[in-house]
Amino acid sequence: MALIVQKFGGTSVGSTDRIKNVAKRVARWKAQGHDIVVVPSAMSGETNRLIGLAKEISSNPNPRELDVIASTGEQVTIGLLAMAMHEEGLKAKSYTGSQVRVLTDSMHTKARILKIDDQRIRKDLSEGNVVIVAGFQGADEHGNITTLGRGGSDTSAVALAAALKADECQIYTDVDGVYTTDPRVVPEARKLDTITFEEMLEMASLGSKVLQIRSVEFAGKYKVKLRVLSSFQDEGEGTLITVEEDKKMEQPIISGIAFNRDEAKLTVLGVPDRPGIAYQILGPIADANIDVDMIIQNVGHDGTTDFSFTVNRGDYNKALGVLETVKGHIGAREIVGDNKTCKVSAVGVGMRSHPGIASQMFRTLAEEGINIQMISTSEIKISVVIDEKYLELAVRILHKTFGLDKEA
Ligand code: ADP
Ligand code: ASP
Ligand code: MG
Repeated sequence: MALIVQKFGGTSVGSTDRIKNVAKRVARWKAQGHDIVVVPSAMSGETNRLIGLAKEISSNPNPRELDVIASTGEQVTIGLLAMAMHEEGLKAKSYTGSQVRVLTDSMHTKARILKIDDQRIRKDLSEGNVVIVAGFQGADEHGNITTLGRGGSDTSAVALAAALKADECQIYTDVDGVYTTDPRVVPEARKLDTITFEEMLEMASLGSKVLQIRSVEFAGKYKVKLRVLSSFQDEGEGTLITVEEDKKMEQPIISGIAFNRDEAKLTVLGVPDRPGIAYQILGPIADANIDVDMIIQNVGHDGTTDFSFTVNRGDYNKALGVLETVKGHIGAREIVGDNKTCKVSAVGVGMRSHPGIASQMFRTLAEEGINIQMISTSEIKISVVIDEKYLELAVRILHKTFGLDKEA
């Protein structure tokens, strides 16, 4: 008998029929004698609808109140799911994050989980209940409702699995595992049986939304056994996220291609080439709570240099505004921007021992006439910023070049 945390994403609970199917699936696991904690998302589209309502009232909604609204999507699902389980003859109880309590910091709309009280859940489990905990939410030390950022139910599930020392955390979604790239963009993408935490972390942070990045961080830190599976198939082992040593010896060099459609690039032209310039440009950007992704400072000539960086597209106008205000002060010639860019990345731990991957990537893009605007590398990834109109093409040809469409 095992203790298993099962998370069901928005599509998997997208209608009352699907909620009934989830209840049936849980009933089968329960019949095998396992203890089950279920973490559902809001029904698909619901969180967007709720945020949309808030924006009809205010173009810049108060974050505390936005969390009060956005968290209700999951509250509906947990109640419906508990009732569906009762119909299956199961004992089940639902809780919101604040009822549990899932204690978070006070960073509304992107709060971090600090601690989870497992008492209530353990008691209910010992009395034979399936315990259903709303994903995506918690409460801060003052009892204010918080949410964990979009896609945050993955993190709720993994954090609960860590707090309960569960045997496994299963993420049920609308694909049957983690693929070599998004199967909606490249139909030839293949499901991976395993992927290392390190690679999954890179894939998630570089735009593969199949798992929220914080859920992978949590799982790595607390050694949670994490698996991604389909909620629409009864068969299949999905993808297991593993520590590197567990992976078979013959590793592919590249495990996957990730992409992010939401990049925007800003360039400050003709800034004086002197110490402190990066700080003078990026300090005010950080103060405006804008996350910076890639950064490039060119080699200076004639005493001036150009400085470029990328931000999330949603922050583009705000970042432009900040740069316009610092422009005079730092003595820059011009600010230019492009919010029609995207980022494509190749990820793989095998890169460490195989030089030449970067040049292979650049050659492939050049042969298709795709101009690279920015490059960034780490031990296990290479990312390029390109024009967004080439996104699909770039992902497809890189997927093919690195042999990801073929059996490893
Ligand atoms: P859920 O609502 O279940 O949380 P998400 O939409 O957040 O589901 O995540 C699943 C989606 O992630 C898939 O439908 C797929 O389009 C997308 N995705 C992106 N990259 C990958 C990848 N490498 N492998 C599998 N799915 C991916
Ligand atoms: N419902 C939330 C969202 O749409 C959380 C989640 O689905 O994981 O972002
Ligand atoms: Mg998700």
